[in-house]
Amino acid sequence: MKNNERQKNTDSATKHKNTAVVEANKDAASNLKELFIDALKDIYWAEQALVKALPKMAANASSPKLQSSISDHHAMTENQVVRLEQIFKLLNEKAEGKKCEALAGLLKEGDNMLEETAYGPVRDAAIIAASQKIEHYEIATYGTLFTFAKVLGENDAAKLLQQTLAEEAEADKILTDVATGCVNMDASQS
Ligand code: ZN
Ligand code: FE
Ligand code: FE
Ligand code: FE
Repeated sequence: MKNNERQKNTDSATKHKNTAVVEANKDAASNLKELFIDALKDIYWAEQALVKALPKMAANASSPKLQSSISDHHAMTENQVVRLEQIFKLLNEKAEGKKCEALAGLLKEGDNMLEETAYGPVRDAAIIAASQKIEHYEIATYGTLFTFAKVLGENDAAKLLQQTLAEEAEADKILTDVATGCVNMDASQS
């Protein structure tokens, strides 16, 4: 065996060492309903974090069109929080959030992007990029939640989740329109 092949095998052994089945926590979800509720708590935390974060994004946008679309989505996000509270009520569950590590990471990345771009069209392009990552995360989340609700026969909850899913998809589309409309062009010229 050649030396570099031996090295590769060692790397692969290290990589695959941690393949044991993970032991579940005491309070781990043991059925789909519990997993559904855990996922609702995750997105409830995320939407509340977005209510706090979106004004900063809007304030950093130089394009009036981008600024107003973020502000519009901020108002929508406040209503999405209320909608989640309605869903918790439908399920007879207390509305409580649990930190969404994924969204916390996306927000942190968005914050870094502000510092790493000059105010103007380039920062606008960065804001759109960060916002679309967030919308895509939400679209994935609400798509899953909608499917879970349907499977569980929670049709009223499913209807509410579908409304939010449509809003997130629309927000993503508007961001694409703003980007292709002018922001990316302006950014490429500055
Ligand atoms: Zn959201
Ligand atoms: Fe949302
Ligand atoms: Fe999450
Ligand atoms: Fe959103």
